[in-house]
Amino acid sequence: MIQPLLESQLYLNAFVIAGLDTDQFGTFTGEIQRKDTPLETARKKCRWAMDQFGFDLAVASEGSFGPHPAAFLLPSDEEWVVLIDQKNQLDIFARALSLETNFQQAICRTIEELTQWAEKVYFPSHAIILSSHDVSASEIVKGINNTQTLLSVGRKFLDKYGLIYAQTDMRAMYNPMRLKVIEAATKTLTKKALSLCPVCQWPGFDVTEYQEGLPCAWCGTPTQEILCTVSECLKCGHQLLKHFPNQKTVANPGYCNYCNP
Ligand SMILES: [Zn+2]
Ligand SMILES: [Zn+2]
Repeated sequence: MIQPLLESQLYLNAFVIAGLDTDQFGTFTGEIQRKDTPLETARKKCRWAMDQFGFDLAVASEGSFGPHPAAFLLPSDEEWVVLIDQKNQLDIFARALSLETNFQQAICRTIEELTQWAEKVYFPSHAIILSSHDVSASEIVKGINNTQTLLSVGRKFLDKYGLIYAQTDMRAMYNPMRLKVIEAATKTLTKKALSLCPVCQWPGFDVTEYQEGLPCAWCGTPTQEILCTVSECLKCGHQLLKHFPNQKTVANPGYCNYCNP
């Protein structure tokens, strides 16, 4: 989880604001669409919480679910975590992408279909949402995490609508798999926050750019593989170039436009 990591790694006295409702920034169930990118949304959550409660440092996360960018048919969970420190003008963010998610929807026409599907998505350790329709549902029950409620709500919807629209509840407190991905993003965030600029010691010194151009092993032509990374200080602008970040000094000719067009 986020809190112990922030305390042990960054020596922050972290606490969760109870009952904080961030639905205004978008809901997974579509009643409220997210307007900004996930990173910008996490930033807005930070600023909003600081305004509301009068703090000058906040950490927020924002998740997205959908097809994995490289493994197209598999669902993935992308999490952003942002730390904003107004007093020190810090804005540090990190991202984690994982295929470890139970993100799924189903239309069930019997109670058996519903219970079988529920088992597949790790119910009851992971909660479920039932509704009468996929979008603009007239009736929706969230956070179902026990069999008794699942059966009673399921039967009610079947009687009323003839089918049940079921989906996994992706809100972090209802989804332990998601918490793990947020934790991974938070680990990256704390590491980044502890990485200091070699010139001015400002926190958050990290890779900001990847430059292509690793030469082909056969002909030496620059390829689209990464030649070097650039880290740039957010405060003083100091840049550090690191060549061959993947410990490879030449590219596979398979990626060369000349040798393998
Ligand atoms: Zn610097
Ligand atoms: Zn080549």
